[in-house]
Amino acid sequence: MKDLWFDPSQCLIDGQWIAPSGGQTLPLFDPSTGEEIGAIARGQAADIDAAVGAATKAWQGAWGRTPAAERGRILMALGRLVAEKVDVLARIEAADVGKPLKQARADAVALARYLEFYGGAADKLHGETIPYLDGYTVYTLREPHGVTGHIVPWNYPMQIIGRSVGAALAAGNACVLKPAEDACLTALAFADLARQVGLPDGALNVVPGLGAEAGAALTAHPGVHHLSFTGSVATGRMVQRAASENVVPVTLELGGKSPQIVFDDADLEAALPFLVNAGIQNCGQTCSASSRILVQRKVYEQVREAMASRYAGLRVGKAVDDLDVGPVISAKQKGLVEGFLDKGQGLEIAGQATLNDLPSDGYYVAPTLYAGVAQDHALAQDEIFGPVQVMIPFEDEAEAVAIANGTDYGLVAGVWTRDGARQMRMARSIRAGQVFLNNYGAGGGVELPFGGIGKSGHGREKGFEALYGFTTLKTVAAYHG
Ligand code: NDP
Repeated sequence: MKDLWFDPSQCLIDGQWIAPSGGQTLPLFDPSTGEEIGAIARGQAADIDAAVGAATKAWQGAWGRTPAAERGRILMALGRLVAEKVDVLARIEAADVGKPLKQARADAVALARYLEFYGGAADKLHGETIPYLDGYTVYTLREPHGVTGHIVPWNYPMQIIGRSVGAALAAGNACVLKPAEDACLTALAFADLARQVGLPDGALNVVPGLGAEAGAALTAHPGVHHLSFTGSVATGRMVQRAASENVVPVTLELGGKSPQIVFDDADLEAALPFLVNAGIQNCGQTCSASSRILVQRKVYEQVREAMASRYAGLRVGKAVDDLDVGPVISAKQKGLVEGFLDKGQGLEIAGQATLNDLPSDGYYVAPTLYAGVAQDHALAQDEIFGPVQVMIPFEDEAEAVAIANGTDYGLVAGVWTRDGARQMRMARSIRAGQVFLNNYGAGGGVELPFGGIGKSGHGREKGFEALYGFTTLKTVAAYHG
């Protein structure tokens, strides 16, 4: 790939590009065409071990001794370099994961913004003094965990690296990053840019490879003090099990089945773009995608027609064509989404985009809107992770809350109503990590704490909350009489 200035069949460990210990690579496919476009390193347990060793050295050495303000300066310099490289990073990402260029650009801009935010916060993270007994001075120290392991999925590599590695480095941890095998390139590019702005060797190490090999080795490594994982519930369980063996904290962000709830007094003109975009953005492969649209019966037909006409106008194409929707990430993911479309047979398709003149080997799925879906149907319960939304009618506030809370997940919700008291009641009643009132922020908001309840996971990323999560609190009690 012509934009790459590094060899992705290598790992970046201790500031050096090195071949994986087993000498093996994995093929890299362009989702827009299905063509093989290169190879990435197939890292193994030995590479993870070397990366954890390098991170330990950095945490106990150069990076650990770097003052907080200087850590912040390095992260902000990295953010500026990322901002300069937005176009090249976007082209690399678009080819690697198939997202339209404008979405890939938005991800690179968000990565720069995370580095600006966490760089600026690095020297504002501190403990407190605590009033205690006579003759004592008690204070707390916020200290880094040490070595943090980051397992990042393929849907938003740059944003997820920004929110997790950015916060971890700001707090003084040294990181080992295992990107998804389908999305390694911007992770490697990012780590190389970090090296260029003077991040000490070993503070950020990247080992590409398979989840079951490099990923599992990272979660099991006794030298890792904290794990941060974003991905499926099934793999999240494995990560949590591995974390429990070593008794280390783990942050799990496991996706959702997030609703937008439209009451009959809502500003429908304002709501409509959010209703559709939050479902089809990134081809629906968004943890906080709004895959359920709950509509009060009085305006149900009106919303259905308006959404259907938007679906009919959606343009699907190659990432470089920069249309509304690209392909999904892989042949495997296409199969998973098509499996859900099979389950939808017999349901009313209210709206669907047309697929025209697309490369036959690309991983395309037609964005599809189902109407009148029963609450217990698989399409209304399971995370599809593709451009598929379901519409569910409701009578009143109580029923809306029951449907909204009626899945195993609880990540994000949106509520559209002009009634201020109802906004407050809904915000309190909905079980989710984020509630948006008269807007919806799929994936957005660097400053906004983000995470789930239930099977959506636990722990909070983004904002200052993430910084607290990447530190451990030490209490110092001094008796001086
Ligand atoms: P996974 O949860 O398996 O992958 C997420 C990350 O975990 C990847 O980096 C993966 O590496 C890694 N991983 C896989 N197995 C292990 C393991 N045993 N130990 C440690 N790390 C591991 O998701 P999939 O890519 O298989 O996607 C399947 C479904 O997961 C999607 O359809 C979607 O529903 C959900 N998902 C949710 C995401 C979210 O943002 N919440 C993101 C991605 C997927 P590798 O890819 O190299 O195997």
